[in-house]
Amino acid sequence: MFVSDILAQKGNFVFTVTPDTTVAQVAQELSARRIGAVLVLEDADTVIGVVSERDLVRVLSERGAAALDLRAREIMTGAVVTCDPDDSIDEVMAAMTRGRFRHVPVVRHGELLGLVSIGDVVKARLVEAEVETEALRAYIVAS
Ligand code: AMP
Repeated sequence: MFVSDILAQKGNFVFTVTPDTTVAQVAQELSARRIGAVLVLEDADTVIGVVSERDLVRVLSERGAAALDLRAREIMTGAVVTCDPDDSIDEVMAAMTRGRFRHVPVVRHGELLGLVSIGDVVKARLVEAEVETEALRAYIVAS
């Protein structure tokens, strides 16, 4: 299974914020959308960072309530690891494990095509495992 299979299921939409969005607004966005991370976009289509709930927890514990007025660009992770639609799900899982993050934007030729979360990856692996089990069961019954 490939990243493109996940996108075919969930679509290409990605929640994003601008670099000047406040931490309070980012928290509202994550809560309202029930998501764990937003991408930070500059000039409407260039990914320059990612802010996840982990970043919010870190900055709140460091700065207290004053953190709510900071901007996304001040707390984001700038070196964003991305994947390609043709990458395998195993490759994305390996990147998440290595980098200790749970969200990977899908980018090709500089164009943002979607976002894959650890939840999407686990779901895809479960479907794959079910298909394999069914195939094995059919093989055993037939032989
Ligand atoms: P997460 O596990 O996705 O909530 O993120 C954990 C940490 O990794 C946070 O500091 C995020 O800003 C950062 N992060 C999340 N996704 C990525 C990514 N694709 N590339 C680099 N850093 C990331």
